[in-house]
Amino acid sequence: MVKHAHALIELVNFDLLVDAHGEQSVGLIIEEFVSGLKSIKRAGDGLLEVSPTQFCLVLRGVHQRQHINLAMAKLYRALAAPVDVFGESAQLVVRCGIALPGSKLAKSKQMLSCAQSALRHAKRQELPHVIFSGTEAAAAREDPNFLARIREALDMGEFVPYFQPKVTAAYGTLVGAEALVRWHDTKLKKVVPPGVFIEQVEESGLIFPLTLHLLKSAIARCANWPEPLHVAVNIPPKLLTEEFLVTAIGDALTVADLDPARLIVEVTERGKMPKLAIQVLGKLSALGVKIAIDDFGTGESSLIQFRSMPANIVKLDQVFVRGAAKSTKDRAIVAAVVELAKRCQMQVVAEGVEDQACADLMKTLGCDWLQGYWFGKPVPNDEFVKAYIGEPPKAQVVDHMAALLGSD
Ligand code: C2E
Ligand code: CA
Ligand code: CA
Repeated sequence: MVKHAHALIELVNFDLLVDAHGEQSVGLIIEEFVSGLKSIKRAGDGLLEVSPTQFCLVLRGVHQRQHINLAMAKLYRALAAPVDVFGESAQLVVRCGIALPGSKLAKSKQMLSCAQSALRHAKRQELPHVIFSGTEAAAAREDPNFLARIREALDMGEFVPYFQPKVTAAYGTLVGAEALVRWHDTKLKKVVPPGVFIEQVEESGLIFPLTLHLLKSAIARCANWPEPLHVAVNIPPKLLTEEFLVTAIGDALTVADLDPARLIVEVTERGKMPKLAIQVLGKLSALGVKIAIDDFGTGESSLIQFRSMPANIVKLDQVFVRGAAKSTKDRAIVAAVVELAKRCQMQVVAEGVEDQACADLMKTLGCDWLQGYWFGKPVPNDEFVKAYIGEPPKAQVVDHMAALLGSD
């Protein structure tokens, strides 16, 4: 049984800081964040990178709320003073979700999931930190008010795909975009990122209508972009065992008159993929849709699974992409994945490219396509078209929107 509290700490104003201080400040801001975390880490504590803006601090031997509160107070003190970003001062803001060890949380993975649930709660309630036991995390997952609100938001069309550009590594030419959901929450009057709600929605039945809405929406937008630009849509594992996914995607492509080859379905390998999921992917592949394995290298994937998946594209996880600048091991992993993919006639996308040096390195290591803040953040369709394509043929946009969606 795990005996240590797990504190998931997120730098929540990262995007705002980067907007204010420029893309060149990304590395420095993350460094300051990490050094704040290291300053409260005691000997024996663990510090794991979950994503560049999220770290998990394993508080060795800590299993009481009062001791966790003391550790958090120390963290807030460490991050209270503004940091210097190229001569300007910047205030780091963090929120934390903490999992309390207990009998319901037997493994580190469950602790992390409980901490994630607590962090979501902290973000929603705008609290600096929230501590959850396994029971509290389970109760939060089943919060009927939250799911009722999601249902309402779905009916109101508040879920909108944003688009992040993907470019060729060789020439920086636009090849397409990944659709990433944003919740235009009309009650809270803010744009909510998927980290706050997607996991809970994925655990509920609402993930079906949400994914279908996003698929149709993204396909309709892509049909108005010039050929051969593509759109990539994230499909959660739960939907891959549903045969109707094939019909739904086929219908959406027909209605929008989009060439199936311009749709990429991004799937994540979280554990062993059921046979049925491989069959569904096979049917999508037969339609002409492209398949990408997302977050490659982080799941519990095996080469047997890799061999059986009808995939065309491998998306290297951001951890290796960003790690490659400093770590020879990460560079070796990127090179090996590129080699593997090439031999299997697959393309490789490096995601999370945040600066020119990283883009150059990924190109040198043989990646085909690049995606990341260096090229552009996810933005609404209008902004995407304006920034990367030029004015769309307006009449068609209206046609597809009327046919498929209503407005967003
Ligand atoms: P993902 O599919 O791995 O998407 C990539 C995430 O990395 C996106 O976060 C994107 O905004 C972010 N990102 C891209 N470039 C950079 C970069 O250079 N630096 C950093 N720090 N981050 C970068 P986002 O939009 O918050 O999405 C997070 C996750 O939520 C996605 O991870 C995906 O798992 C899930 N998600 C997003 N949209 C959807 C959706 O429509 N359906 C489903 N089921 N899941 C979605
Ligand atoms: Ca993805
Ligand atoms: Ca990814």
